[in-house]
Amino acid sequence: MTTEDVLNIFEENEALLKGHFLLTSGLHSNRYLQCALVLQHPAVAEKLCAELAAKVEADASIGRIDLVIAPALGGVIVAHEVARALGVRALFTERQEKTMTLRRGFQIKPRERCLVVEDVVTTGGSTREVMEVVAQHGGLTAGAGSLIDRSGGAVDLGVPRHALAVLEVPAYKPEECPMCREGSTAIKPGSRQ
Ligand SMILES: [Zn+2]
Repeated sequence: MTTEDVLNIFEENEALLKGHFLLTSGLHSNRYLQCALVLQHPAVAEKLCAELAAKVEADASIGRIDLVIAPALGGVIVAHEVARALGVRALFTERQEKTMTLRRGFQIKPRERCLVVEDVVTTGGSTREVMEVVAQHGGLTAGAGSLIDRSGGAVDLGVPRHALAVLEVPAYKPEECPMCREGSTAIKPGSRQ
């Protein structure tokens, strides 16, 4: 599956938005990938995540995976479907008082090899937070993955990382955002009722 194939799927589902957006990373951008609109179709989610799982499995440097883990909410479906393809468990972390934690009785056993996934990587911040949770529980992050990498491949997590599509989408610090300078206000995507 090429980047173009993936983007076609996003466009078919009106999941590639244009505007002035505040990303989870705190950065502003004129493009937003609303993955939920793609993942609302279980068959599409299954297919995309199976492709990502295949890339991970083909990377000998990642090795065995015992579980897939993602930050809620955005990564939950991706973790679930990648885990289905790999035949392993799917866990998710949640933010509690701004700190990423493992709740709901989820357990990572010492030395378990974890694959950390997300829907979209912009700065890799959320993936890093999940990697810290994995380390706190004695697990090992063997690799990372996302459906989309919008950093143009720039994010370095210190572990092998794969994405179905690598894009270079501009993202600005608020104080450097040209759209803010023109007087418009960044909106949190999906926050409109
Ligand atoms: Zn802005």
